[in-house]
Amino acid sequence: MSVIGIDFGNESCYVAAARSGGIETLANDYSLRATPSFVAFDGKKRIIGVAAKNQQVTNMKNTVGGFKRLLGRKFNDPHVQHELTSIPARVEARGDGSIGIKVNYLGEDQHFGPEQLTAMLFTKLKETSAAAMQTQVNDCVIACPVFFTNAERKALLDAAQIAGLNVLRLMNETTATALAYGFYKNDLFEDKPRNVIFVDFGHSSLQASACAFTKGKLKMLASTWDQIGGRDIDLALGDYFAKEFQERYKINAKTNARANLRLLTEIEKLKKQMSANSTKLPLNIECFLDDIDVSSSMQRSQMEELCAPVLQRVEQTFKRLLAESKLQLDDIHSVEIVGGSSRIPSVKQLIEQVFNKPASTTLNQDEAVSRGAALQCAIMSPAVRVREFGVTDIQNYAVKVLWDSEGSAAPGEIEIFPQYHASPFSRLLTINRKGPFNVSIVYGQQVPYPDQTIGVWKVKDVKPTERGEGQDVKLKVRINNNGIVLISSATLVEKKEAEEAAAAAEQAASEEKPGDQTNNTGEPADGQQEGADKKKKASKATELPLECTTHGFSPVDLSNYTQQESKMIGNDQKETERIDAKNALEEFVYDMRNKLQGGPFERYVVEAEREKIVSQLNDLENWLYEDGEDCERDIYTSRLQALHQKTDPIKLRASDYEQGPAAFDELKNSI
Ligand code: ATP
Ligand code: MG
Repeated sequence: MSVIGIDFGNESCYVAAARSGGIETLANDYSLRATPSFVAFDGKKRIIGVAAKNQQVTNMKNTVGGFKRLLGRKFNDPHVQHELTSIPARVEARGDGSIGIKVNYLGEDQHFGPEQLTAMLFTKLKETSAAAMQTQVNDCVIACPVFFTNAERKALLDAAQIAGLNVLRLMNETTATALAYGFYKNDLFEDKPRNVIFVDFGHSSLQASACAFTKGKLKMLASTWDQIGGRDIDLALGDYFAKEFQERYKINAKTNARANLRLLTEIEKLKKQMSANSTKLPLNIECFLDDIDVSSSMQRSQMEELCAPVLQRVEQTFKRLLAESKLQLDDIHSVEIVGGSSRIPSVKQLIEQVFNKPASTTLNQDEAVSRGAALQCAIMSPAVRVREFGVTDIQNYAVKVLWDSEGSAAPGEIEIFPQYHASPFSRLLTINRKGPFNVSIVYGQQVPYPDQTIGVWKVKDVKPTERGEGQDVKLKVRINNNGIVLISSATLVEKKEAEEAAAAAEQAASEEKPGDQTNNTGEPADGQQEGADKKKKASKATELPLECTTHGFSPVDLSNYTQQESKMIGNDQKETERIDAKNALEEFVYDMRNKLQGGPFERYVVEAEREKIVSQLNDLENWLYEDGEDCERDIYTSRLQALHQKTDPIKLRASDYEQGPAAFDELKNSI
């Protein structure tokens, strides 16, 4: 049984697994721990991860990356339109307004949404884990940016479900990092919190969070973020070099997607070198455009100038965190950095400037998020035994509940969770009604998503009392383990029992504790468990049916996408077997020919027969490049079998003879 944590980055993913011996970051089929967040299609099969990124330049239209930031969004969303400027694949609006990424797969144009592409990536990560752990994946915890809204979280959960992952928790990335830090610290105290700032500066985002550690527990205090990352630095440098090449070589890199991609790839390499080196470094690209070789150079100070607007936003994000966490500089124990872009020296300088502490690298900068997620998974999963560590996360945005009017009763509104409220958490809200009504949950502040609405719940079967009066409906508003806000139950409290029932309900509310992770089965179980509690405590309370409209796929769509994914997995497997069979035949042809012509088998076959076989092998080689290039697996295997029938006797004669001298020696000695 395998328990894993996934860091799904915009540029690359990491998977860590919890074993009895500890946490281990897993290597993929290329023996690398980073799996690029890329999916490609080559006509017959999908290519995912390292192999997908490696072939991007030659298959640009059918290679897709950068889809993390498209999750849960519509095509017309301005954010999506902005993201699409850096995605070379063809992207269109589908009938329902969702995003359709068009690729050529199995000989036809097909559309896939960002959730499906994410599911494909998860399938790959699942395979990586299964191969590394030699067992199937059971449970997982997936990390997501702290600023992800309800729609994005739902989309991520849908993607995981399509890939057949059982998600115990969607965990904010900086919270996962904090757990990776705190879990192994044995110098934490019960009464004296240690406040640590975690900065994650990645490919597309910057997140900074403040966390208070006490013995065996962590509590997130505040988080700030900005949608800037290493890619924005690459783009700023890209603009600079493109302009320079335009002036010096009269070529426009921006008009050619392939050239632009090659330029950005070289810039990224240069940028990484500049983190370790302040001298002038070269940038050379051969046959860049119109067969022209280009060369230039840059040094760190120049890069910092070009990226001043990005660095300014980094500084502002840090300053906001200082203000919003309400921590004084002296209260801060240390600032831990993770994420690839946190290696940039000027970012470290800004940390020192704002927090008055040097940037600390206690954690593995690339793997901390996945390791923290794996730890959380181990804590929650029954499959692994691990010491407890309490994690209290926060709700990143204020949340309001709104309900519609009824007769003379005015519509109502309440801020149910202020920003940075503990999560998971439930609150009870009482509304007096005579009939069914609608309740909306909306964000109470500006969020990075075009629609502020989280969902609308229709509370059904509400009836007046016999005397025609309204009755109390208790709504349980919950932020669950995934940071998703919902109404998990509605209960009608019969008028005659009102006082007794209300008292019981109040008691239930006060028993809700933040950081409660015992129930990790998700929303439906939440509701059932709560329902059972209520019945016990308030016998006259009746559970009401709820109808909810919120983000995410419908069960029908989910089931269709899941089936489609299974079919594609089956198809990939078949294609891999086909290619393996072809390779095996090809390999056999070369190997046997070498062995028969001047090799060890030459002596064990009469010349005429040998020439016949060699000519057959030559024919097969030609066939493999022509008519046989693209055949079914069985055709390759049957040809290989036929070859074996012909050549196995030769092999046998050779091996008999090899062992022959020893046998003769034995015979000689016994005479
Ligand atoms: P995100 O967290 O935004 O979803 P991610 O997790 O995939 O993305 P990371 O792997 O943390 O991102 O970081 C990748 C970024 O870090 C890239 O932009 C890369 O160029 C940059 N990076 C990696 N190493 C260095 C370095 N030594 N110096 C500067 N930048 C670096
Ligand atoms: Mg990241």
